[in-house]
Amino acid sequence: MSTTIITGFHQDADGDWVAELACGHSQHMRHRPPWQSRPWVTSEAGRAAKLGASIECAACQMPELPARASEYKRTATFTEQTVPGGLLRDHRTKPGVWAKIVVEAGRLGYTLESPRRTFMLTPEIPGVVPPTEPHHVEPAGPVRFHVAFLRPDGS
Ligand SMILES: [Zn+2]
Repeated sequence: MSTTIITGFHQDADGDWVAELACGHSQHMRHRPPWQSRPWVTSEAGRAAKLGASIECAACQMPELPARASEYKRTATFTEQTVPGGLLRDHRTKPGVWAKIVVEAGRLGYTLESPRRTFMLTPEIPGVVPPTEPHHVEPAGPVRFHVAFLRPDGS
């Protein structure tokens, strides 16, 4: 994971607080006791005290899709109960084929093997799979997701 800094906050449509990060990504800072306890996020003073704080940003280490790529196929939507076994074991895309793992709801663990990097995918952080790189996913509770396959334009 790479480190960045909190530069601001805003609320999403559900009223949950979202930290804005110096790297350009954002991260939910939910206070939902007892599961997620961040009482500081509910007060103006608490949020102000976190400005400038260091924070790990998983999105920064995600591979980037080619600037121009077109989706040519996508899977059905899977849940933690219907995810095909093949996605849970290491597998890879064909040469020239990129994949995007799109979480529609919930969270999904995603691991790229070489070098080994693990991510927690959310609707805000899609997983990007470079061509032929071994990877697998691992549901972390209830989740709905699909996988889109893309080819760089002109290939
Ligand atoms: Zn980032």
